[in-house]
Amino acid sequence: MLQQTRVKTVIPYYRAWLKRFPDLPALADAEPDEVLAQWEGLGYYRRARSLHAGAAFVAERHGGRIPRDLAELKGIPGVGDYTAGAVASIAFGRPVPAVDGNVRRVLSRLYDEPTPTASWLRERAGLLVDPDRPGDWNQALMDLGATICTPRSPGCDACPLTSVCAARVAGTQELRPSRSARRAVPAVTFAVSVVVDRWGRAFVRRRPDKGLLAGLWAFPEAVIGDPTPDEPALVRQARHAAKEAGARTRERPRWILDVVRHRFTHLMATYVPVLLTAAGASAGDGRWVPLERPTGLALPRAQRKIAAAAWAAFETKETDADANP
Ligand code: SF4
Repeated sequence: MLQQTRVKTVIPYYRAWLKRFPDLPALADAEPDEVLAQWEGLGYYRRARSLHAGAAFVAERHGGRIPRDLAELKGIPGVGDYTAGAVASIAFGRPVPAVDGNVRRVLSRLYDEPTPTASWLRERAGLLVDPDRPGDWNQALMDLGATICTPRSPGCDACPLTSVCAARVAGTQELRPSRSARRAVPAVTFAVSVVVDRWGRAFVRRRPDKGLLAGLWAFPEAVIGDPTPDEPALVRQARHAAKEAGARTRERPRWILDVVRHRFTHLMATYVPVLLTAAGASAGDGRWVPLERPTGLALPRAQRKIAAAAWAAFETKETDADANP
C-alpha cells in the first residue's frame, strides 16, 4: 500500500483492510471484486491484484506460510527485489539489502554517484548491510532518506553520515542522483458514455481482466482519434460505446460534460463524458449504480470524478426541467 502512497493516506485503508482480511487465508480466499472494492480509492490497483495473487500463491505453494528464503520470496507474484529484501531482512533477519527510492538517493549521495544503476545499488547496499541487524539497518537507511537526506535541502548538519559523505564534500548533494526527465507518455482521449435512467442511476460494466484498469468497473468508453472532436462525433462514439456494452440510449436529451484528466503510469487519459438518457433496461451484464453515491463496486478515481460531474449535471437538468416543464 505504501508504494507511491503516503503513510497518512494509507493508515485508514490499512486498518480497514486488516479488519476484512485479518490473515493470509482470508485474503487468498476472497473474491477479486471484493479485494478491489476494499482497495478502492488507493489507486494503482495492480498492487491489490498482486497482493491477492501473492496470497493465493503462498497459500497453495507454501501452505500459507511466507517463505524465508530470498529466492523463494522473489518467486511470489508481485514480489520484486525491494519487497523481498525488506521482508527477508525485517521479518526474518536475513542479511540482504532493501533498496527503495530513499535508499537509492542516500547511496547516490554517499558515493557521489550521479547515475546509480540497479546492479550498482544492489552491490553497494549488499556490502553495507549490517549482518547482525539487517532489518534495523535497512529501515534506518530508508528513514534517513525520508527524513534527513531529502530530495531538496538535505539536512547534512544533522546527518550521521556527514563525515563520510562524498557528495557533501563535493557540494553536489542536490545534484545526486541526477534527475532524468519525466518519461513522456502517450495521450489518449476517450468519449465516455454515462447512460442515466430517470432515477439517476448510471450504467457501468466490469472491464476485462487484462489491460488498463483490469477487472474494475467503469462507464463504457471509446477511444477517439481526434483529440479535439466535435460534438456530433463525441455523441456518436459515446452512443456506440453504450450500445456495445449493452445499454440502450435515447437520441435526446444529451449533454457533453467537462473533461476529466487522469495520468496513468504509461498513459495520459482525457475523458470527455457524454451524459445520455437510458431507453429501458440494459441488455448486457453491466450494473446500474446510483450516480450520487456509487458505492459497493470498485470504481477507479477518474470514474468517480466522472460520476460526480454527471450527478451534478443530472440534478441541474432535472431541476431546470421541473422549473420549465
Ligand atoms: S551528508 Fe547530506 S547528502 Fe550526505 S547522506 Fe547525509 S544528508 Fe545526505
